[in-house]
Parts: sequence; C-alpha cells; structure tokens
Amino acid sequence: MTDAVRLEREGNIAVVTIDNPPVNAGSIAVRQGLIAAFGKVAGDKTVIGVVLIGAGRTFVAGSDIREFGKPLADPQLPAVIAAIEECPKPVIVAIHGAALGGGYELALGCDIRIATPDAKLGLPEVTLGMIPGAGGTVRLPRIVDPAEALDIVVTGKRVPAPEALKLGMIDAVTTGDLRAAAIELARSPATVKRRLRDLPVRNGDPARFETAAEAAAKRNLGRKPVEEAIAALRRARALPFGEALAQERAAFQELRQGDEAAALRHLFFAEREAARIDGVTPDVAIDVRRIAVIGAGTMGAGIAAACLAAGYETRLIDIDAASLARGTARIADIAAQDVAKGRITADAAAERAKRLIASTKLADAADCDLAIEAVIEDMAIKRRVFGELDAILLGHAILASNTSYLDLDVIAAATKRPESVVGLHFFSPANVMRLLEIVRGAKTGTPALATALAVAKKLGKLPVVAHVGEGFIGNRIYSAYRRECEIMVEDGAAPAEIDVALTGYGFKMGPFAVWDMSGLDIAWHTRQRLIAEGKAPARALPLLDRLYEAGRLGRKTGGGWYDHPAGTPSPIVAAMIDERRRERGVTTAPIPAETIIARVLDAMTTEAEAVLKDGIAARASDIDLVMVNGYGFPAHKGGPMFQAALERR
Ligand code: NAD
Repeated sequence: MTDAVRLEREGNIAVVTIDNPPVNAGSIAVRQGLIAAFGKVAGDKTVIGVVLIGAGRTFVAGSDIREFGKPLADPQLPAVIAAIEECPKPVIVAIHGAALGGGYELALGCDIRIATPDAKLGLPEVTLGMIPGAGGTVRLPRIVDPAEALDIVVTGKRVPAPEALKLGMIDAVTTGDLRAAAIELARSPATVKRRLRDLPVRNGDPARFETAAEAAAKRNLGRKPVEEAIAALRRARALPFGEALAQERAAFQELRQGDEAAALRHLFFAEREAARIDGVTPDVAIDVRRIAVIGAGTMGAGIAAACLAAGYETRLIDIDAASLARGTARIADIAAQDVAKGRITADAAAERAKRLIASTKLADAADCDLAIEAVIEDMAIKRRVFGELDAILLGHAILASNTSYLDLDVIAAATKRPESVVGLHFFSPANVMRLLEIVRGAKTGTPALATALAVAKKLGKLPVVAHVGEGFIGNRIYSAYRRECEIMVEDGAAPAEIDVALTGYGFKMGPFAVWDMSGLDIAWHTRQRLIAEGKAPARALPLLDRLYEAGRLGRKTGGGWYDHPAGTPSPIVAAMIDERRRERGVTTAPIPAETIIARVLDAMTTEAEAVLKDGIAARASDIDLVMVNGYGFPAHKGGPMFQAALERR
C-alpha cells in the first residue's frame, strides 16, 4: 500500500482505510494505495468481503484540487473505480463526514453505501467549472431519479445523509459504530456483488427531467459545465454504460483544462490565501464572547443577526427607540425565515433570541469584548460614538467601524486606543453576504487584526484585509467601474444597454439596476463630500446629479435610472441623456456589448492596479475575491485580475 491507504483484516473481511489528512483528498498517493489494496484482496481466497472507509474526521471530501491544474498522473480515478468493480467480493463503503466529488464517485463504484446520519454527499464538480469525470453522471441516475440526479449534479449541493437515503444515493444510515456496521454487513450471507454499471438507468418522469434541464440551463446562462452535465446525464440513458463513461471522461478532461475551471480554482486558492497575513497569528487574538452592535439600521440589524447566528451574546444599541424596534423586529424576522426554511429549529431560534439585548443606552455595551459601530456615515457622529465607547469599554475590548468610505485613522484618533481600532466593512444584507473587508488602520495592532480574522471565521464570513484609503478595495474599484459606465452613457450607450451587456457577461445585476436598488442619494452624498475635500475627478458627470435633483433616487422614489416598479427604461431619463449629449456637442454612437465589457474590465483593472500600488490590497487575488463576493462579478470569470492575466497570456 502507500502511507495514504491501509489494508487490515477483520477475520474474513478486508478493511481498506484511506488516511490522507486533513480531509482524505483523493491524491495520487491515495489512488495508488487503493489500486494496490484492491489488487491484493481481489485474489485473496480467504477474504469474502471488503469495507472501504476513511480515517480521521471524514471519508473523502473530494479530489485533490491542486492536481487539476496539471496533467493528471496515473492511475486516475476511473482506473481505481474499475478495480473496485472488478474485485469479485462485495465492497461496502462506510461514509462519515463528507463524500464529495471524486469521493462520492468512489462510493458509487462500491456495491453498498452506508453513512452516518451527519454525513454529506454530493457531486460539486460544476461549482469548480467541470463535470464529474469518474462515472458520477453515469452511475447516479441508475440509483436516483434522473431529474433528482440532474439537480444534484448541476447545483453541486451537499445532500445530508437522511435525504440521500430517501433519494437512493446511499443504501442505509447507521447510527452505531460505522466500521463495525460495515464489517457486519460485509459478512452477511445476504450481501452480494451489486455493481451500479449492471443496473439500468432509472425511468423517472422524462417531462420532469426536461423541465429541470431547461430551468438549470436558463439559470446558469448556458454555462458550459452545466450544459455538459445535462448532456452527460442524457447520454447515461441513451448510450451503453462504457460509451457514456468514456464520453463523460472526455468532457471532464476538456473542461478541467478550460478557462472557467481555472478561474474557479483560482478563487478556491485565493480564499485560502486571503486569511494569511504576514506577522499575524491566531494566538494573539482576544477571546470574544460578547459583541455590541451600535446602530440598528440596515447594516446594524444584519450584523447583529449574523453575530447571534454564530453564537455570540449580542447587544444591539440605537439612540432612536423606533429604529431599535425596527432593527429588533428584522432580527426576529431573519430567525423566523431560518426556521421556515428548515435551517434551524424553533428551539434554536428561541435560544438565539435569548442572547440578544436591545437597548437605547450605550452604557449597555460596557461589558462587551468587541463593539461594531454601524451608525450613519457621518464622521462627527462616528467620532463621538468612538470617544464614548472608548470611555466605557474594558481595556481589552476591540472597537470596529463598518464605515464604507470614511478614514478609519481619523475615527481611531477619537479614542485613546487606536491600536484596538479596526474596520469591519460588512456588505448588505450583512447576515447573508459572505465578504467582509477587514480594514487595517495605520495604528491597528496585530491583536485587533487577529481578533477581527477570528470573529470573521466564526461568523462564516470571507475576510479580506485592506488598508485605509477612500472606499478601501471594493468601493474604490466599484466607483471607477460605475464612473466608466456613466461616461459610456454620455458616449452613446443607454443605461439598459450597459446593464444587458454586463448581465450577459455574467454579473448578477447591471450597475444602473444596482444603483436604483441601493439609492442614488448615497453616491450623490459621496460625490459632494469628494468635491468638498477636493478629491473629485476633473471630468464632471452631471447626469447623476440631475437625476438626484429631480428626486429620482431609485426604487424608493418610484424612479431612478429606470422607472419603477416596472424597472423599464425611462423616457424622462432618456431626454436628460439626450440633452447632456447635445450639451457636450460630440457625436455619439451605440456601443457594442463587447466594447462595454472591455471598457468596464479595463476601468476595473486600472483602478485595481492603483489599489495594489498604493498598498490598499496585499495581493491581486484578494481583489478578485472582493469583486466576486461583494460586487456580483461572475465567479466563473475568476475576477477582473484573473481576466487581465488571461488576456496577457
Ligand atoms: P441606517 O441609516 O440604516 O442606520 C443607522 C442607524 O444608526 C439608525 O438606526 C440611527 O438611529 C442610528 N444612529 C445614529 N446615530 C447614532 C448614535 N449616536 N448612536 C447609536 N445609534 C445611532 O444606515 P446603514 O445603511 O445601516 O449604514 C450604517 C453604516 O454602515 C454606515 O457607516 C454605512 O456607510 C455603512 N455601510 C452601509 C452599507 C449599506 O449597504 N447600507 C454597506 C456597508 C456599510
């Protein structure tokens, strides 16, 4: 065997254990070890059955993603699965933790699948820009309704064991000792070889399959891995097993080497890299148990809901009793939705509610380890709140601000402990959005930074560290992107044309639709501040100001760039645009979608280069994470910096 795979005997049963910490990823060493182990037991007359199991905290959480970027080394996974299928003894796979991707395909190569109740199973290859490549799409519809199989493959969802049992993904859920149960099953005279390749594809309802296929293709804008996954599932029915398998492998290999898979792998590794900050180690973080959130508005309520969901004792504080009541009601509503969607039990929601104290007095934050300020975006008010917090909080406590644009160093200077001040820039809705920009001020100390990273992790957020600068990483690049879109409107593109071009590229929403959703007033106020500070760009773009002055603030006023609620192009705005173009006295022409996309990418990367040069972001991959997770940049394009690198290749 190899170090990664052990072969042991329990009487007449062979137990093959995969031991490749931390998550038993299916690496070359694992594949070699499995081939050797099954080669040995296949010819051993004293063995009547085999158990395949994982050591440590999980079965096989997936294939080793690092290997996907290079030519795959032999033996590859299909050869391992073929060896299991050719082994004349029944093979029982015993699953705990996760069996995902190649891990679940391995399980599909076995004769019987049993799992612990908390195990999760799935085929998430599509989320990495590929399709299953070792029989997942060919074997799964032989035990699961094809429409369900399609859903599992195209969403890449992790199916909990009890649901997997109902669907047919596994044969049994075991509550006792997993290894012992598998050995007992392997010994049972009733247990026989049952290769999935010998079964027919399940009938299911063809109309349901077609509806699901159509919906999936539409939802994913015809993304190639989704189309290929659907095609592979169709072939599973139409073609003989071996042929369907070979074609699945060919599609997998092509996708694996394509740009989309490279983009998604890039983001996967970027996430692991982002939390690593030179000179900051987790051991210097302070222990946070109680968090105060100051300001119960849009952001404060969402942040408090996230803190409660993560298990923190939470104080929500607002000077305005009515705002506090609205914020508290929103938190209750978020918990109720979690219950309704089956994410938590009613008991868990009740327990959450007990950990919340709502108050109009800042003094109620006094015993907290961390205070997160989310009051209105006004420097004087924020400085006052920080001064007051500094006076009442204990010496070890960390003070954080959720400011979107303001200078954290100026806020920190309102306290006597600037080393304990850090930015925690959440995105709206704060209880949902994963991205969290952690802002490191000039004086922020490593304990405050390490604490921010630890809290981010517990909140289930994706932290990216930024230095102080107008708009940090994300809002700064987003501002440059929006500015280019405003210029394109003056140059000849209608807002709707720009939005359509960008959603066609894969953005969740176009910039003008986003503007109308979040309100034009925020941008207008920021612009006024920049003008006052002498930081506004030389070329004025007055259209936004004219919309603002006309009371067109977006959805909330029934109109912005579009007319609402219909969200249709506005004749009034069209007239304003015409007037502006006449004023400029230049001839305009429509801008093709490819040019719109190219100009947006160029504006983003130019600003991103400046963000790197100014030391606001530490790495190009951090910028990609911010734009993908906070600003709707399509993940399958890997982010603006990844795209720029592709173009240079
Ligand atoms: P909001 O207006 O919805 O809420 C602000 C709340 O702060 C109000 O309830 C107000 O009563 C309260 N408040 C004002 N002064 C206070 C004081 N001295 N003490 C306690 N409470 C006080 O604002 P919001 O949209 O939640 O934004 C809050 C902060 O978050 C701002 O700095 C904003 O820039 C930032 N932010 C907002 C978003 C967003 O999308 N809305 C995103 C990221 C960051």
